[in-house]
Amino acid sequence: MKVFKFGGASVKDARALQNLAQIVSAQGGKEELLLVVSAMGKTTNALEQVYDLTTAGKDFGDALDQSRQYHLAIVNELFPNREHPVYGRLEHLFAQLQQVLQASKGQSVTNHDKGYDQVVSFGELLSSVIVHYFMQDQGIANAWVDSRKYIQTDSSWREARVDWAWTERVIKRDLPAILSQQLIVTQGFLGGTNNGLTTTLGREGSDFSAAIFAYCLDAEGLYIWKDVAGLLNADPKRFAHTVRYRELDYQETVEMAYYGASVIHPKTIKPLANKSIPLYVKSFLDPTAEGTKICDCRFEKLAPAYIVKDNQCLVSFSAKDFTFISEKNLGTIFNALSELRLKINLMQNSAISFSICTDYNEERLHKLLDTLTDQFTIHYNTRLQLFTIKNYDNESIQEITKGKEILMEQRTRTTFQVVCR
Ligand code: ASP
Ligand code: MG
Repeated sequence: MKVFKFGGASVKDARALQNLAQIVSAQGGKEELLLVVSAMGKTTNALEQVYDLTTAGKDFGDALDQSRQYHLAIVNELFPNREHPVYGRLEHLFAQLQQVLQASKGQSVTNHDKGYDQVVSFGELLSSVIVHYFMQDQGIANAWVDSRKYIQTDSSWREARVDWAWTERVIKRDLPAILSQQLIVTQGFLGGTNNGLTTTLGREGSDFSAAIFAYCLDAEGLYIWKDVAGLLNADPKRFAHTVRYRELDYQETVEMAYYGASVIHPKTIKPLANKSIPLYVKSFLDPTAEGTKICDCRFEKLAPAYIVKDNQCLVSFSAKDFTFISEKNLGTIFNALSELRLKINLMQNSAISFSICTDYNEERLHKLLDTLTDQFTIHYNTRLQLFTIKNYDNESIQEITKGKEILMEQRTRTTFQVVCR
């Protein structure tokens, strides 16, 4: 069997859904297929905004209605018969969402992330319901499956951790029988706790969901359908000359994702690598184009990969008494970072200071300063960029650093990183 994952762009409007149905039909119905879908277009961002309004005690009515109208416009185009059951399902989901939002009004800050998952998860529920009905109407028999009942997680809201044993057992128990009859449509990004609450697996987590299903079902391949024909060595919106990798190994792909290449969700690779399931990154705009295959394969020389992270912040800590930064100091700093979920993108130690580069988050940064300012003198710069070149050479370094002010630089045998203004 195969798993197909369709991201937000591949379900963003009526045309995109027609295209999706065509890609699925082109499989000829000969193979077992499970589809994992993301929320439509930018729905997740839109729902985040709705939720922010709600928790700020502001009126969310207009923002919610915009999202409703967006989905309704797509459905109107795809289902001319206004009696179609999709309309009832859609209204029911929006009514439920409205209720959840109402309940989140003025809730305590401690429940913020929990509430976020209950709200933002509606994006995938909506899109999967629409995809399910639309394919059915196109003559593609399919069952709608609630992924929250299969991907069981703990309650680390917004970044839930999967209970693999449980998840694998129920997927193996229930889904093969369905797949032998018809195709499955399910949601990416979502999980569920053992007491029936919804969790999410982290932004862009649908790739990971697809990998979980592929792993548990021993798929012969996972196909991620994107708006680019495979993995490129740089973002074509930023770099003029990009090349496509025809094949990459799992390790290389994970590293690129780690450094921030917005290619594949980093957690996606491990389950696939564990069972040597190849991952194909294909273009839904040009489905027959070759794309990139990620598998067990090694290469001597790969084109340098350029990865840019914007909106970075460089924070330097020095001990107030001019002593050296000790392991004990580092322990204190790491603890505070971990508590605040501030991820270190790059770090460097010198005689009297320790510096980290992290994604800029004003609120968390100020909490960090509050926590550590008694013990350390702290300086920081914002609005920086972090460039990473994997498999660098001199030429690629020059290309990146030309004309920039460098605040921190690091290189290993394979990777060059620099924080610039
Ligand atoms: N819809 C979610 C997001 O935008 C998950 C995904 O698309 O992968 O982050
Ligand atoms: Mg997405």
